[in-house]
Amino acid sequence: MLFIDSFYMFLGQLVVLIVAIIIILLIIFIILALLIAKKNKIRFPRFLLYIVDLLYSPLKTIAHFLKLDDNLIDDIAIRVRNDLNKEQYNRIPAEKTLIFLPHCLRHKDCPATLQKEGLNCTECGLCSIGVIKKKAEPLGYKMYIVPGSSFVKKIVMENKFQTVLGVACHEDLNQMMMLLSDFYPQGVLLERTGCFETKVNVKKVFEKLDSKY
Ligand code: SF4
Repeated sequence: MLFIDSFYMFLGQLVVLIVAIIIILLIIFIILALLIAKKNKIRFPRFLLYIVDLLYSPLKTIAHFLKLDDNLIDDIAIRVRNDLNKEQYNRIPAEKTLIFLPHCLRHKDCPATLQKEGLNCTECGLCSIGVIKKKAEPLGYKMYIVPGSSFVKKIVMENKFQTVLGVACHEDLNQMMMLLSDFYPQGVLLERTGCFETKVNVKKVFEKLDSKY
């Protein structure tokens, strides 16, 4: 009986301790996130990302509950990851860099077919994918136009590379950067999301391509 009482007391203390740690981490996250949002200052980036990766779902739920921007958590994480990985990404040559573009960028009349490694763009000139491909491939980048994360995982398994550049909507981009965090990922957000004819700022993608030279 004494043993059972002690066990439940220990369990209760453990739960209180875990809840206290989570609350402290959330408060630290809010302070660091405010520094980024208000003063554009990124402090303790690795710790911030640790909190986001650990408490991603609770943070999203809290942001939603407080009626904050749905993309706030992903936005902060993407900014921090870009800042943290920039130098290493720039040091790795284009030949060892994979680019992932979402196939929703294609034009509705896109003539390309879907292959096992993604969309086979013919550079028909109807959308920004062809524009990016025209610049990226002669520089040595390997570019893939993918319909989803399962393609990304497969391509990553089958290729030798050291870093990645991704284009996607907030949640997909953050998830991809989280998944490939060992490869110094860089990301560019879509400016218009949807199922097709989404939009990316090509200039921002070109900046990431040129930053290695
Ligand atoms: S540029 Fe490529 S992806 Fe875009 S519509 Fe043409 S073939 Fe399709």
